[in-house]
Amino acid sequence: MSATDDLLARYERSLMQVFGRPQLVLEHGDGAWVWDVDGRRYLDLVGGIAVNALGHNHPALVAAVSKQAGQLVHVSNFYTSVPQVQLAERILAVAGAPEGSAVFFCNSGAEAIEAAVKLARRTGRTGIIAAEGAFHGRTTGALALTHKAAYREPFEPLLPGVVHVPWGDVAALEAAVGPATSAVVLEPIQGEGGVVPSTPEYLRAARALTTEAGALLVLDEIQTGVGRTGAWFAFQQAGVVPDAMTLAKGLGGGVPIGALVTFGPDVSAMLGAGQHGSTFGGNPLACAAGLAVLDTIESEGLLEHVRAMGEHLGERVLGLGDARVTGIRGSGLLRAVTLAGPWAAAVAAHGREAGLILNPVSPDAIRLAPPLVVTADQLDLFVDALPGLLDLATEETR
Ligand SMILES: *Cc1c(COP(=O)(O)O)cnc(C)c1O
Repeated sequence: MSATDDLLARYERSLMQVFGRPQLVLEHGDGAWVWDVDGRRYLDLVGGIAVNALGHNHPALVAAVSKQAGQLVHVSNFYTSVPQVQLAERILAVAGAPEGSAVFFCNSGAEAIEAAVKLARRTGRTGIIAAEGAFHGRTTGALALTHKAAYREPFEPLLPGVVHVPWGDVAALEAAVGPATSAVVLEPIQGEGGVVPSTPEYLRAARALTTEAGALLVLDEIQTGVGRTGAWFAFQQAGVVPDAMTLAKGLGGGVPIGALVTFGPDVSAMLGAGQHGSTFGGNPLACAAGLAVLDTIESEGLLEHVRAMGEHLGERVLGLGDARVTGIRGSGLLRAVTLAGPWAAAVAAHGREAGLILNPVSPDAIRLAPPLVVTADQLDLFVDALPGLLDLATEETR
């Protein structure tokens, strides 16, 4: 029995089966490469779902976490620490947030959304508008904002007052926003929904409508933030400043951390002493990881690199001239290669056999969210393999 089969059998006997059967049992990594427990090597083009921003085993992240672990791992939020203050300052600086802006640290994306929901409640209103296709997390509050019926319905009734409007439809948004609206919550690019981008016009309309209605514009940058699209945050590319933004995924480079960022003094004062909290949130270990991620993005010029790699990938995929590939969506290194048929799952399965980790985000779209340090040669390995993977996938579904 292989080490993989042994561990998967033990997994099935000891872990809750909410994720189904894991595809691989991974042991170690280096940059965009990972190895499984049987010594097979894979090119990781999913990056822990947009989490492993610096790739695996990046020396800056390893050094920062190791050093901090030898110093302080945790202190309660009765106290603060140097990394916590520094990370909050760095996030506000790279976000270009105005004076009086603030950060609340938590441990995951869903928790950042929960904090945003509580912020929204402080408007004194209870209506929240989210988009069809949206994914905002799995806790009961965040789940109310998530659109997919299969995720939501077994757990209803959820938080009341949430309405989902058609994605990208300005008129529908305009019709929905009103005096009962506390917040409009949107992903600049819907990640789990299939890497479906908004347009700058849509985000600008959301900005204008919320301002006019006295509601908050909350941008969920949990997947798009921290360099993923080639800017620090996607809102900067749209030329829209939200009232609040949620972060998680790439922020800690794999160490769990989430954040709610509030823009300006008025919004930042809406949650006061005692009104929110977290035991682990903002602990020095996670904040040291976050600082290493932001420092490395800057020192290695990764924003520019992400833009260049995103363009390279787009050109190479379209350059295949393969009729089974209909296009490529998204921006920077948050991408979906779209297919002319429902072949994504089969492409990902055959890709895995060929040593490529891919995500079939929808039946006809393959999501790529590789480490920001991925190289052009590594992306080429995928593009060169794609026609062969499509041969295998289309044979099966014929
Ligand atoms: C992943 C994700 C979440 C949820 O984050 P968790 O850390 O899994 O709770 C929320 N919003 C978006 C846009 C995400 O991509």
